[in-house]
Amino acid sequence: MDLISIIVPCYNEEESIPQFYREVTKVISAMDIETEIIFIDDGSKDRTLAVVRKLHELDKRVRYISFSRNFGKEAGMLAGLQAAKGDFVAVMDADLQDPPSLLPDMYKAVTEEGFDCAATRRTTRKGEPPIRSFFARMFYKIINKISDANIVDGARDFRLMSRKMVDAVLSMGEYNRFSKGIFGWVGFRTKWLEYVNVERVAGETKWSFWKLFKYSMEGIMAFSTTPLYITSAMGFIVCIVAFLLACFYAVKALIFGDPAAGFPTMVCLMLFLGGIQLIGIGVVGMYLSKTYLETKKRPIYIVKETEDSD
Ligand code: UDP
Ligand code: MG
Repeated sequence: MDLISIIVPCYNEEESIPQFYREVTKVISAMDIETEIIFIDDGSKDRTLAVVRKLHELDKRVRYISFSRNFGKEAGMLAGLQAAKGDFVAVMDADLQDPPSLLPDMYKAVTEEGFDCAATRRTTRKGEPPIRSFFARMFYKIINKISDANIVDGARDFRLMSRKMVDAVLSMGEYNRFSKGIFGWVGFRTKWLEYVNVERVAGETKWSFWKLFKYSMEGIMAFSTTPLYITSAMGFIVCIVAFLLACFYAVKALIFGDPAAGFPTMVCLMLFLGGIQLIGIGVVGMYLSKTYLETKKRPIYIVKETEDSD
């Protein structure tokens, strides 16, 4: 029988976890598989750790890893993928926004239909502020234009992967982990299952608009260097314009003489060029800061406790 590992990153999910556990075990007991459920407690401030500890006592299929502080969902997923022993590995949210009822279909796709991965995308963004949806759509359009990782709009992190694909994902040792990009970048045959957006069962979303914005910038920087080229291109264009202007003024001065006019032009030009330079330095700085963090080779997460540690 195949062993399936289910990875569940959790941050302050004490209310959702029991419901999640109930639903998932209901689904997997009807399937002909063995399972392990790995909860990653991402430095929760509520009783999440106590809840998963309890579950582990009741059901040895439940494993857990608890971080020393909040490292973010990306770190949680990585820890889970590294700890997973399964022939197939699934990643799921604890809030039941990823319907467990899709698991049998996903399992069928990777075992019978010859896919390496079954991934999910939601077709609607119901229950989300419209402005957030707008920016999300724009983000997917931009990143797909400027990077070579195919990132599908509306793709969730909810997916079931074969061991081969998991090993490929783990072979990418970067510090700035943007999983949506990594999953797309490693390739393999992916089957996309669609479903209508479900609202979370309990608790609230951990994503503020600002956090999402930062996340999308990280995604762009992790999978594209196009902003750096755009910066150079901008510099180049401004230089050409400046050169043409210089020629124009030189000719004009030769023909008409040079009354000391043009103060506003100077101010505008200086501000414009200064602005472009600052943008350029900013973009370079963002990449530099990412490089800086990569070279430090800090651990991506720190484990405080696991089910084996007591
Ligand atoms: N999560 C996490 N660490 C964090 C933030 C979130 O492990 O720092 C988990 C969270 O517990 C949930 C999943 O990631 O299981 C998705 O989070 P959320 O539901 O808040 O995101 P949304 O579904 O709104 O995109
Ligand atoms: Mg959610």
